[in-house]
Amino acid sequence: MTATGARGPEAGAILLWLRQDLRLADNPALDAACATAAAGAPVVPVFTWSPEEEGAWPPGAASRWWLHHSLAALDGELRARGARLVLRRGPIVPALLELARETGAAAIHWNRRYEPAGRAQGEALKRAAEEAGLAARSFNSALLAEPWEIATGEGRPYQVFTPFWKAFTARGEPAAPQPAPAAIPAPVAWPRSEPLDALGLLPRHDWAGGIRAAWSPGEAGAQRQLERFLEEALSDYADGRNRPDREGSSRLSPFLHFGEISPRQVWHAVRRAESVAGGRGATRGAESYLRELGWREFAYHLLFHFPRTPDSPLRAEYADFPWREDPALLRAWQRGRTGYPFVDAAMRQLWRTGWMHNRTRMVVASFLVKDLLISWNEGARWFWDTLVDADLANNTLGWQWAGGCGADAAPFFRVFNPVTQGVRFDPEGDYVRTFVEELEGLDGPGVHEPWAVPGGLPAAAGRLYPERVVDHGMARERALAALASWKGRS
Ligand SMILES: Cc1cc2nc3c(=O)[nH]c(=O)nc-3n(C[C@H](O)[C@H](O)[C@H](O)COP(=O)(O)OP(=O)(O)OC[C@H]3O[C@@H](n4cnc5c(N)ncnc54)[C@H](O)[C@@H]3O)c2cc1C
Repeated sequence: MTATGARGPEAGAILLWLRQDLRLADNPALDAACATAAAGAPVVPVFTWSPEEEGAWPPGAASRWWLHHSLAALDGELRARGARLVLRRGPIVPALLELARETGAAAIHWNRRYEPAGRAQGEALKRAAEEAGLAARSFNSALLAEPWEIATGEGRPYQVFTPFWKAFTARGEPAAPQPAPAAIPAPVAWPRSEPLDALGLLPRHDWAGGIRAAWSPGEAGAQRQLERFLEEALSDYADGRNRPDREGSSRLSPFLHFGEISPRQVWHAVRRAESVAGGRGATRGAESYLRELGWREFAYHLLFHFPRTPDSPLRAEYADFPWREDPALLRAWQRGRTGYPFVDAAMRQLWRTGWMHNRTRMVVASFLVKDLLISWNEGARWFWDTLVDADLANNTLGWQWAGGCGADAAPFFRVFNPVTQGVRFDPEGDYVRTFVEELEGLDGPGVHEPWAVPGGLPAAAGRLYPERVVDHGMARERALAALASWKGRS
């Protein structure tokens, strides 16, 4: 009898170690576990919470909120099939070996991660499991192509997206996704599990109301989000993706990050929608969207081959760029109080909903790095803590792009103008008014330049909108001068 009073271990059980693959459909580690479980041998799904083993990048506050709800949703999906999710605290290797002993497991299955810490976890587990006489098998559930499968003619990793994408598409369409198993063989008695609440993933003070209103974590939420996108936005995606005032993009990023949906599922659903809709618009939307999934693949390719890039520039010469340290300005940027409405709307969208539109991610990143001359590392850290889709590969690519120091990066001298970007991509000013309540009383695109309103700002919402923390024209010249003098020095 075990400590829970249940029957003893069942020979041949398979532990399914779930990580960033929190779904049942198209989950290769789960499929293989169900297929290979000897007749009557159970599959035991387990998630280990071990933030100490995530190196310098343990999940931030918004990610933890998402993870809590994602684990609850996954447990619900498993229970609907007669299984459940066992939760254990780390350290990972001893926790899993102990669970293997308790359940009499003969094998451990998992899906691979590609971040440095995630890779180290998988490698350590493989060694320890094999020493303990367990079969250890890992699978690819997160990517359309493994990072090592795509290489230049000289066998090196790509550092430019276009040739990467050409090599990627030359491989043909990705494999079709697999449905969820109809049943998951369960043990006669379930091993002990930590209660979800005991992991402490939810904030002690509930600041997550806006995030809760905006999102439904879990596999079912991911499917609903995908269907909405295919019906309402795919055909216009090529243009709509640039408009933060519309729901023109898929908003699948947190679901993809946590593996609540697989890129194969998304890819093939987009292809199906394209063929049902037919016509040039549908093809343009689909091609443009699949290319963005390609950027995700590229980000993982880079992180895998250049694992130091979350903290250090890919172009090493940028390591001594003369960034400024200015905590007050950094805080104004973080809180959406720079005096530039398009920047502030975006930073408040992030704070309120845990997500920000791609166009405005580029604008706020340029503002921090160029107008304020604050290091991209500071921006990456803030995004890491506040985004529900915080993803080490995509975040690193985005911030190094903005900092001019990464693969295929925007050149440092390309400085986004926060006013003209706003007028162009939020032409009626609706996005700004949604998030910057002090400016609710201003009509039309004039909301992007409140300092130019004749007679000054109408008193709105009882709060004063801040003065600009910096003059963009001056800041642009200062950034270019800093670049020139740094280049002259190095
Ligand atoms: C400074 C900066 C930081 C970023 N940090 C993150 C991050 O932490 N997590 C994250 O998922 N994305 C990040 N991105 C990329 C991009 O902004 C988001 O993936 C996108 O806005 C998510 O919205 P969506 O799902 O509606 O995207 P869609 O336009 O619907 O795109 C579909 C999917 O493709 C992928 N994708 C789209 N654009 C990119 C891109 N530029 N790079 C890599 N993958 C992409 C995402 O997985 C996305 O869900 C960042 C971009 C910048 C400029």
